[in-house]
Amino acid sequence: MSADGEMYSEVLEVAANHSRAWLNSLSSRDVNPQKNADEIKLDMNFALPDGPTDAKEVVEKLAEVGEAGLMAMGSGRFFGWVIGGTLPAALGADWLVSTWDQNSASRIATPTTAAIEEIAAKWLLDILGLPSTADVGFPTGGMMANFTGLISARQKVLTDVGWDLDKKGLIGAPAVRVLVGQERHDTVDRALRYLGLGEPIEVGVDDQGRISIDALRSALEGSSGPTILCLQAGNLHSGAFDPFREAIEMAHKFNAWVHVDGAFGLWALASPALRPALDGIELADSWATDAHKTLNVPYDCGVAIVAHPAVLRSTFGVHASYLILADGDHGDPSEKVPEFSRRARGVPVWAALYSLGRNGIADLVDQLVGNARLMARELAKIEGCHVLNAIAFTQVCFAFENDERTDEICARLISDKSIWISGSKWRGRSVLRVSVSNWSTNVDDVMIAVEAVRRAASS
Ligand SMILES: *Cc1c(COP(=O)(O)O)cnc(C)c1O
Repeated sequence: MSADGEMYSEVLEVAANHSRAWLNSLSSRDVNPQKNADEIKLDMNFALPDGPTDAKEVVEKLAEVGEAGLMAMGSGRFFGWVIGGTLPAALGADWLVSTWDQNSASRIATPTTAAIEEIAAKWLLDILGLPSTADVGFPTGGMMANFTGLISARQKVLTDVGWDLDKKGLIGAPAVRVLVGQERHDTVDRALRYLGLGEPIEVGVDDQGRISIDALRSALEGSSGPTILCLQAGNLHSGAFDPFREAIEMAHKFNAWVHVDGAFGLWALASPALRPALDGIELADSWATDAHKTLNVPYDCGVAIVAHPAVLRSTFGVHASYLILADGDHGDPSEKVPEFSRRARGVPVWAALYSLGRNGIADLVDQLVGNARLMARELAKIEGCHVLNAIAFTQVCFAFENDERTDEICARLISDKSIWISGSKWRGRSVLRVSVSNWSTNVDDVMIAVEAVRRAASS
């Protein structure tokens, strides 16, 4: 059998039609899936056929049976976790990435995707105001972007004390102390486990979850040795930003590597209005963010930014040695991420940035934050509803008189289906948490959510 374009066109037509129908339904459909995973498995409960099935039929089946178990994460009325939708240009580019099927590990083998990713990287550093000399990799998400920053950190702080990690491994190495704020994201701990660095040392935070400078000073002075500090841009519950300048300058006096988890909050840097709240963040050594959240590219895509390219490349490069990089040595895409064979995830990022433009990116961020503020103001008018955070970014955290009532209202909201808001625990109490992360969320969507909360609170 030989492959020609015609063999694909019918199945692509089927996929395109179902995609269009799904996207068109987002503004009006229920947010919740109609069926759970076990029910979907029952609907697909047939044995693997012995013979082939026509490609069109396969995709038709997937779309028809699958739809009942889809969460409308792309809906403007979806406020759960921190998710984000899909910008049209990013989706179109993502389709091409699948069609082109380039294993974008090396510059020589896949020039177009390597070049586009390098341009996306340059644009990103520019709009985020991070050092133009930093290296940028596109791993699968924020988790692996945190891993990328932290593995670079491990390499550097151990090299600084004369330990050859590549040769001797971690066993017997000087202990690395890792300092984290009490409210860091779970994926930081997960990355540290992958790295064999064990449990981090928790540093106290204030009422918005920002790391306390006094507590950080005590922690830094309280012990010694190779040190990594992990800060946060965008607290999951409050959206707050750590006091970067003070924390980073202090940590650098102890020769620490400073990594920033900015999975969604790093994008505040693209907004001239919000940028001052992150003053000093550019002094860090590595930063992690997601493109699939605030930038609204399709899942999945993270962004790992490391200020010291030689460290990053000696970590992930095939030739594991402490490199001295020549000027203009761009490196291969696979030398900047944990993966080797890889999808060109940076291409939809390029498309999103290109389609929005510099001002459009700032407007997107400001719009998300503006809708979060509106949501907070309107929620505060509901009897018994308390907004618990100062709205620093896209997150709104609220609760009712007691945990019982908050949990009850959360359950009613989930069964309301017109919107999706996650329940969570924050500072020892049950809370409801909104994340405004979808580019398509508008004022009407916000008001639908507020009305749903009002209904749930009054029934
Ligand atoms: C989402 C998130 C992560 C993890 O990112 P993934 O894309 O889910 O891997 C890490 N930190 C914060 C603050 C997040 O919001």
